[in-house]
Amino acid sequence: MNTTVQRPACATAGVDMYPDRDDETANAAAVAVCLQCPLRADCAATALDRVEIFGVWGALTEKRRESLRRHGKAPTGANMIRVAVRREEVARLAGQDVPISAIAERLGVTNDIVTADLRRLRGDHLPGQREARAAADAARAEEKAQRIDAMLQAGAAVKRIAQELHVHRRAVYRRRELLEVA
Ligand code: SF4
Repeated sequence: MNTTVQRPACATAGVDMYPDRDDETANAAAVAVCLQCPLRADCAATALDRVEIFGVWGALTEKRRESLRRHGKAPTGANMIRVAVRREEVARLAGQDVPISAIAERLGVTNDIVTADLRRLRGDHLPGQREARAAADAARAEEKAQRIDAMLQAGAAVKRIAQELHVHRRAVYRRRELLEVA
């Protein structure tokens, strides 16, 4: 059983979590705190459920919550809100090239859930999208391989390449083997 206590990031961040609604800098600072918080999904869900008017909750500013409510996009029910917030976070981390396993660990879900979220976010469940996505993935993989090769040829260490390009070290070793054979 996991008995780790998850602490709210805002408790120790020293950042005003109730900024003036029009102060974009202060709101961005509060949102940045929430983005590091393990309680983000629950916090956002609770704030939407109980219609919190003031402050930043779960990375949602007053204006954002207002807009979600106004456009009827706020999912009803805490669980749907959690899913929506989790998908938003999965999209953000995937956009930073964070590996699936690291995203899963950070959000406290399984790799399969993250993979399913990514598929849905990419629209892979829609007709024709899967093939288009596969082609785009292949192009991205090729581009990454070329960047690994370039760094290897420039003499960069395997560990540094893996960290900079967010790839597993095994992938770098594999490219090095291929370069040596060529
Ligand atoms: S998500 Fe909620 S608990 Fe976490 S830092 Fe933001 S306001 Fe605090």
